[in-house]
Amino acid sequence: MVPHPNQRIGRTLAVVDPDLCAACGICAGACPTSTPFRRAEKTLVTGIDMPERPIAALRERLRQGLAALKARDAGSVPLVLFACERGAQPGGARAGGDVLRVDLLCAGQLPPSFIEYALRDGAGGVLVAACREGGCEFRHGESIAMQRLTGQREPHLRARAAQGDRVALVFAGAGDAQAIETTLERLRTAVARAPLVPEESPA
Ligand code: SF4
Repeated sequence: MVPHPNQRIGRTLAVVDPDLCAACGICAGACPTSTPFRRAEKTLVTGIDMPERPIAALRERLRQGLAALKARDAGSVPLVLFACERGAQPGGARAGGDVLRVDLLCAGQLPPSFIEYALRDGAGGVLVAACREGGCEFRHGESIAMQRLTGQREPHLRARAAQGDRVALVFAGAGDAQAIETTLERLRTAVARAPLVPEESPA
């Protein structure tokens, strides 16, 4: 930590030591500026980011991917799969299917507000796939993701988004593709049973 440049007494600023950084992106997932709802700026610039997978790029992938799925089949209700790129690669998130896969450096890179954003942008349900419990390459990404989604850690998923069966978390290591497929199918069934009434996005 270093003194904050605004020079107010007691304020400090975190500084990343590149020699110690594991490049997990968990800090980007925690930063309050990493919210896709910020509309003022053309480009989403966040307080901390991962050059190889910026938050702005995740938002674009989400936006464009959902738009493409809806354009292809206006009647379908897409699902979004936010997945650690080191985890399982299920065939169910297949090209031409109803699932938009958004790869993350680690499940802990995901700001929970992206889940709310996806639901407001037309996703019927959202699945977050983390590595197996205790199997995170960065040690804690899967438990941090779980704690954020279950309200035990900030930033947490807002209660409204967590309601119902539209948001799910699955722990799936590289060989656990079937766990993701099974959870996607459960999500698909829940969405078909109770279609989502879209919430208005804030202006
Ligand atoms: S949370 Fe991860 S990406 Fe961020 S500074 Fe720490 S090790 Fe690096």
